[in-house]
Amino acid sequence: MIEPNRQGEVWVFAEQEDGTIPDVVLELCGKARALADQLGVKAGAVLAGSDRGSLPAQLIAHGIDNLYVVEDKRLEHFQTSPYTRIVCSLIQKHEPQIVLYGATALGRDLAPRVASEMRAGMTADCTDLQIQDVTDPRTKQVHENLLLQIRPAFGGNIIATIVNYDWWPQMATVREGVMPLQEPDLARSGQVIAEPVELDDSLFPVKLIERHIEPRTVNLKGARVIVAGGGGVGSRDSFKLIHELAGAIGGAVGASRAAVDGGYIGKEHQIGQTGTTVRPALYIAAGISGAVQHRAGMEESAKIIAINTDPEAPIFSVAHYGIVGDMRKVIPLLVKSLKERR
Ligand code: FAD
Repeated sequence: MIEPNRQGEVWVFAEQEDGTIPDVVLELCGKARALADQLGVKAGAVLAGSDRGSLPAQLIAHGIDNLYVVEDKRLEHFQTSPYTRIVCSLIQKHEPQIVLYGATALGRDLAPRVASEMRAGMTADCTDLQIQDVTDPRTKQVHENLLLQIRPAFGGNIIATIVNYDWWPQMATVREGVMPLQEPDLARSGQVIAEPVELDDSLFPVKLIERHIEPRTVNLKGARVIVAGGGGVGSRDSFKLIHELAGAIGGAVGASRAAVDGGYIGKEHQIGQTGTTVRPALYIAAGISGAVQHRAGMEESAKIIAINTDPEAPIFSVAHYGIVGDMRKVIPLLVKSLKERR
């Protein structure tokens, strides 16, 4: 644990693999920039690996002022122990007030370990982060400029705001696609600071023999148009209609959890709280009720069209256009009309 430091920077852990930074890190750099501006402090990032390559320029262009770089041949691939040691050493040295991580497999492994070692708090899977003064209801003490860590709780039925009065740094993980990705500003300048962190060989107990990387079969995050089917589609066979409409309109195929659980399509297509978060230009939801856990992953879409037999379905509360009807009748008509226009 470090003492609350009001001048501390706002940090992002800049995870990278094979010299590539995932989008979530760049999204968090933009958020860190905004939070740091509000607090009147600098935005920082920690980059560890065997070779920094051109990553510093990318991070600085996305809003980072101070980039702390740890380079070591043994850091070529992520390993929990040395990375935990690096982040903890740098936190102890520079005392940031906030540290943000992507809620990726790597971030979900690293962040809780850092939290445990630092005896700090950590909120997983935040959907929003804000700065605000907070009164401790027990002591009535006002804590200025705390990080509000906002996330769905109790199965998404409530939105919880979590604050951390004194177990600093304030830390959170955020899923990819939740924060908007800001345009890079190539004219920005920042400082790259090489950090010598002692890493004993005992911190590398795992020897990597071979790596297999599963190719991504579906890119929902990058899709401009998504056609998603839900439990109301009724069967794997009827789900072909969703594929057909997606094909006709040039979109990707998404699904609710009911459709995935029903075996209509694979889990990698699931959108929502425990699936992917998307913000396409157009989202068509067919046979999806619009449960809060599904809406959490799609309600930021620019335009939403819902097709549902139930006029009271919650999906209509976030839809810009609604069609009350049986998707098995509506979709063939839409496909026919799209084909005729072509
Ligand atoms: P249903 O609830 O079965 O709704 C089907 C809808 O289709 C109804 O509105 C019905 O009126 C309509 N319909 C029926 N027949 C037709 C027809 N022929 N034509 C048109 N409309 C029709 N869910 C997600 O989607 N994503 C998540 O990431 C997710 N994470 C979760 C995490 C937790 C911790 C929990 C507790 C739940 C999560 N869920 C998630 C599940 C969520 O609560 C809902 O159960 C799920 O979204 C329901 O899917 P659905 O609306 O497609 O199916």
